[in-house]
Amino acid sequence: MKDTINIGDMPVEEFRKYGHELIDWIADYLKNIENYSVLPNIKPGDIKKMLPGNPPEKGEPVGNILKDVEKIVMPGMTHWQHPNFMAYFNSTASGAGILGEILSAAFNTNGMVWKSAPSSNEIEEVTIDWFRQLIGLPENFWGIIYDTASVSSMHAIASAREHKQNLQIRQKGMINKAIPRLRLYASEHAHSSIDKGALTLGIGLEGIRKISVDREFKMIPGELEKAIEEDKKNGWLPFCVVATIGTTSTTSIDPVKEIAAICKKENIWLHVDAAHAGVTAMVPEMKFILDGVENADSFVVNPHKWMFVPIDLSLLYTKHPETLKSAFSLVHEYLKTSEDSSVHNYMDYGIQLGRRFRSLKFWFVMRYFGKEGLVARYREHLRLGKLFASWIDESPNFERLAPVPFSTICFRAVPTHLRTDDELNEFNEKLMDKINSTGKLFLSHTKLNGKFTIRLVISGLRTEEKHVKNAWELIKQCYYEQQSK
Ligand SMILES: *Cc1c(COP(=O)(O)O)cnc(C)c1O
Repeated sequence: MKDTINIGDMPVEEFRKYGHELIDWIADYLKNIENYSVLPNIKPGDIKKMLPGNPPEKGEPVGNILKDVEKIVMPGMTHWQHPNFMAYFNSTASGAGILGEILSAAFNTNGMVWKSAPSSNEIEEVTIDWFRQLIGLPENFWGIIYDTASVSSMHAIASAREHKQNLQIRQKGMINKAIPRLRLYASEHAHSSIDKGALTLGIGLEGIRKISVDREFKMIPGELEKAIEEDKKNGWLPFCVVATIGTTSTTSIDPVKEIAAICKKENIWLHVDAAHAGVTAMVPEMKFILDGVENADSFVVNPHKWMFVPIDLSLLYTKHPETLKSAFSLVHEYLKTSEDSSVHNYMDYGIQLGRRFRSLKFWFVMRYFGKEGLVARYREHLRLGKLFASWIDESPNFERLAPVPFSTICFRAVPTHLRTDDELNEFNEKLMDKINSTGKLFLSHTKLNGKFTIRLVISGLRTEEKHVKNAWELIKQCYYEQQSK
């Protein structure tokens, strides 16, 4: 027996034993999350140093691997599940979502066509429609799940290009003297994923025109109109406008209604990026954020950000699924099935063939919280955001640098002994580094009109009022220490 190699999977009883152990470990991790430092105290390369350079020659028991999770993985963890993670845009995973994720790995279906995974396919269709109803998008929006908003937006931009059917780009490609240069428009504050999507599709950086924003960081529709006019005169073909609801730096909301009117007049595809903030349209008093979206052609939102679904899961809605299909569908003989005419084979609507059963965790999360549970959590996060903003506004030592339509607060310290923006920028960068180095809070930054701006985001599932209060106390304490240096 000694030298024979087991060629099957792990024995089921062993799986059961370690499965129970792992679930216990995860439960303890979530229970004790606040005991961890939000940011790890390590240097680049520290984790690699603990791993052998050569791949394992002989198999090992899972018990050994689990032990090394504690020893090797944990020291290098930035804890996104931590209630004091208030950087970027949080993505926190709920218990229900984690369980759904485990189950989808166990099934390991590949939903390329309906026949290859009917439940995956149909639960995807239904959960997408549930979510559409939750946020109040009109019925003529059809949806699909991709991994990230970057990929969703790339497919939206591809649809916009395909929509100009006389260009025949699918057939002839972009290197075709007969087609004019294509131009895409987005505000200066649009997410870099829009640029990347355009780059991927051969639009080129010159094909992306940034439209300036007003004092509240919203796209100025008049500037968009002027840019389109000017471009048309110079031989460009405007084909896509991207409006953002909840921009990455400040969560500003572009005036979608006005932008949509311009797009309609000019016959340009309008894509709306609401990756982070779109979920809050579930809250009745926040419905207004989607004003005008009914006139858009496509819309992206990420349940993996502020809806407690484990990363990754992004939703793209489009009014023109047939355009998306005509951009990407290529059906080889071996993938043809007898149901093709009566079902959506999701492989037809994008670049990927293989697809995970992502909708399962989404279904778990929607059912576990219900609309009521989600709305209650969003209301609390929005309330805490306003509360923190009020503390900034009342403090003589800090100033707020942008409106707070959701729960992201942009601010900086303004000690009276400093005058110029350069001095203030240096002070605030040091202040943020000092705060983050405590391990008790994680904040990130942006630049607004040349000002180093600290961002605090409240959208984590485990963040409560006490955490926001403690964050404020810590920020003030670090401020006094930094100031007296
Ligand atoms: C986070 C975010 C993105 C990128 O999302 P990914 O899923 O990481 O690709 C794009 N746009 C906005 C507005 C975002 O907040």
